[in-house]
Amino acid sequence: MKKRVVIVGGGINGLTAANYLQKQNFDVKILEKNNNIGGACVKDSVVINKKPVNYPKGATVLGMMQKFVFEETNLSKFIKTYYPKSPKLVYFKNNFEPTRIYQDVNLLKKELQIKWNEKGDIEGFRNDEAIVIKYLQNIYKKSTVPDISDAENILGKKITELWIKGSAYDLLNHYFTSEKTKLYMGMTVTESGPASIFQKGTAFTIPLMDSGSIFNGYWGFVKNGIWEISENLGKINESIGVKIDYSVSIKNIDHKSKKIFLDNKELDYDYLLFATDPITPARLLKDDKKIKTINDKEFIGTSGKITAFFKNPVVWKYPANDDSLDTSFRFIFSNSDLGEFEKSSQIAYKNHKDYEPGYIQIYPEGAAQRKMGNDEGIEKLILFSKNFSFNKKSKDLVDCKQDILNLLSKYIVNVDDLIETKFLTPADLKETFYFPKGNIDHMTLSGNQNFDKRTFSNQPKESFFRYFDYDNIYYCGAGSFPCGSVAGTPGYMCAKHIINFN
Ligand SMILES: Cc1cc2nc3c(=O)[nH]c(=O)nc-3n(C[C@H](O)[C@H](O)[C@H](O)COP(=O)(O)OP(=O)(O)OC[C@H]3O[C@@H](n4cnc5c(N)ncnc54)[C@H](O)[C@@H]3O)c2cc1C
Repeated sequence: MKKRVVIVGGGINGLTAANYLQKQNFDVKILEKNNNIGGACVKDSVVINKKPVNYPKGATVLGMMQKFVFEETNLSKFIKTYYPKSPKLVYFKNNFEPTRIYQDVNLLKKELQIKWNEKGDIEGFRNDEAIVIKYLQNIYKKSTVPDISDAENILGKKITELWIKGSAYDLLNHYFTSEKTKLYMGMTVTESGPASIFQKGTAFTIPLMDSGSIFNGYWGFVKNGIWEISENLGKINESIGVKIDYSVSIKNIDHKSKKIFLDNKELDYDYLLFATDPITPARLLKDDKKIKTINDKEFIGTSGKITAFFKNPVVWKYPANDDSLDTSFRFIFSNSDLGEFEKSSQIAYKNHKDYEPGYIQIYPEGAAQRKMGNDEGIEKLILFSKNFSFNKKSKDLVDCKQDILNLLSKYIVNVDDLIETKFLTPADLKETFYFPKGNIDHMTLSGNQNFDKRTFSNQPKESFFRYFDYDNIYYCGAGSFPCGSVAGTPGYMCAKHIINFN
């Protein structure tokens, strides 16, 4: 008889785990609380000129996914993607001349030397990062356990200390001399939440965020929108026999008899996977001790997202008249050195201010859609912005949104074409997507919750994705290794572990 797997949560991780398990002869059922799948990778729509316009409600850009997951799930047959090869453009406050982040390391070296007076070792940084990334991608593919002594054996003690065990501050200072280079290369450390760059273990987030292989570590776009990934994976899963129950309310779980109690029925399982936030399983298992243990972890998120709708394509001022940069990612920094960067992220963490400007990542969703042949008539620009306090909703932070739009308006010609905005703060993310304290990775990528420590297992070496000491219960949501993102890596790794175990 086929082993029965119940997966709680139909986000990218639940969907990916389901795909691999069903194909290996498990009988898989997904239980989803919402009336749709996708979790934080879903669309929403806004009516403009009496016409509905879809936009990415949570996640926007694709990059962390492993190429083999894209291909083995068959997503590659249905999804059209695009990633910009043009340089990224970086602006520092009150300096309108952008610095170009070229993919070619020699061009980059020259640019950073001229623009930021960088005298450090760009090439060494890129080469060493590539070694760490290769190592990580191997862990993902083989679903092996992230382990420090293994890293030391393979990468050597020096690289492991710098890139995995050490602080982001030490890593950045090791390779670079310019504060601007350090800020640009280190910004991902606080992308999900306010991890301190001084904390040991935070260096790891830098190679982690570049370890996707779908676009060789770069980030890009999906035709129509990133929700096509979860919607199509849902359809693929159904076609291979995965069953999905929507709008489910789990009343109780008896882990001894391996039974799940819903409103009107009960389900038996052999394996139970939670692809939710990490607190939900403890709540459903009514395990107060675990709830307390988990509540002591760091969950605070500080990211906000503004989706700006323009009635015409966005026209950039700096540089002017260069169509080749239409789909470039752009970044505006309000901090000028690592000290300020730390201060503003920690102000948000300690909740001292509603919003403390840090950086804005600008994703040219509309221009990318046009590039993929999807001209919607309305141009979307996504402003992924730091640092918000985690406890205020967007309706209470209208002024902060305006500050961000005012800053943006200095860089574009046609600000009058802006006709609509949608704004989400960490408090909104908590409510909308059930992320505890609004962290887009479910749990902060702080030093204590990174690499080998990003697990809830009481036996990580034997079973990294096991949920504490529960037999046959696993956790593979964004709070587990390696991290969140529209990638499905934790779901894949957990499924692989179960497959190998059988
Ligand atoms: C604003 C924002 C911007 C982001 N930007 C990007 C981006 O550009 N690129 C990127 O790669 N990532 C981005 N992310 C992160 C990414 O979306 C998440 O890390 C990823 O979607 C997490 O996937 P998951 O499957 O682990 O969890 P989720 O997507 O959170 O899915 C969990 C699922 O579990 C369900 N669930 C919860 N509780 C229960 C229950 N009790 N019973 C049944 N079901 C339950 C939920 O309804 C949900 O469907 C962003 C996230 C947000 C919010």
